[in-house]
Amino acid sequence: MISGLLEGKRGVVFGVANQMSLAWGITEQIVGAGGQVALTYVNEAVEKRVKPLAESIGTELVLPCDVARDLEIEGLFATLERTWGKIDFVVHSVAYAHRDDLRGFFSQTTRSGFALAMDISVYSLIAITRCAVPLMKEGGSILTLSYLGARRAVPGYNVMGVAKAALESSVRYLAAELGEKGIRVNAVSSGPVKTLAASAVANFQKKLRAMDGLSPLRRNVTQEEVGKAALYLLSDLSSGVTGEIHFVDAGFNMVVSA
Ligand code: NAD
Repeated sequence: MISGLLEGKRGVVFGVANQMSLAWGITEQIVGAGGQVALTYVNEAVEKRVKPLAESIGTELVLPCDVARDLEIEGLFATLERTWGKIDFVVHSVAYAHRDDLRGFFSQTTRSGFALAMDISVYSLIAITRCAVPLMKEGGSILTLSYLGARRAVPGYNVMGVAKAALESSVRYLAAELGEKGIRVNAVSSGPVKTLAASAVANFQKKLRAMDGLSPLRRNVTQEEVGKAALYLLSDLSSGVTGEIHFVDAGFNMVVSA
């Protein structure tokens, strides 16, 4: 049954940087369920890594898009409209902050570092959604990725925690606005998974070890598990769900350490 879940559905995935990316785990699930994807890349270095991955799943649509640039976002969706006419889903798996802002004292965050983190990690969801909505002619599902640092002061996560709080709030506002068009907007809040972006966060290994000891499942979650939850939120299995922050973190968010 899972194999046909997204049969005939098409969409775009932002945020595949390499094989470890959460966006790649999500892409594999989408393709496994019969969906078709377009992938995007931010620059030439990422393009070189994404192209072979796209080839491995038979995807020809691999398009440039720096989410800090409205014109590139508009150009991307214009290409999708010319190629497909309509889309059914969008995966926003993108975040960025200066490395220095992901360690040390939160009070030292610069104005420009704060603005950059919010622009790439939060505003981009709004800009992408604005362009995606006209193509979601039969409704659709929009998904982003968050982390527990949106709700708790996780040491080192700093400005990205504030960005994720704004991202989760944006999910609710977008969901409230777009529900009447049959467009659902949700987030997966993932536990720590070793990726390029995660390696920029201070004490990342410590966060992984804390999960091993304290999470109810006594382990970390995998890229595949994040992908499977994403598949649920992107497919009709979650047709009654919107504005939700769906934790995939082995239950870690609900426990209190002694
Ligand atoms: P990743 O490094 O594989 O993915 C981050 C992506 O953001 C990369 O593909 C990068 O190219 C892209 N990106 C950065 N700036 C961009 C820009 N200006 N335009 C377009 N793309 C840009 O790391 P990941 O861990 O897979 O991160 C994906 C999402 O998951 C992020 O939102 C991250 O905060 C979130 N997340 C990750 C974890 C984790 O532990 N890995 C946990 C919870 C949430």
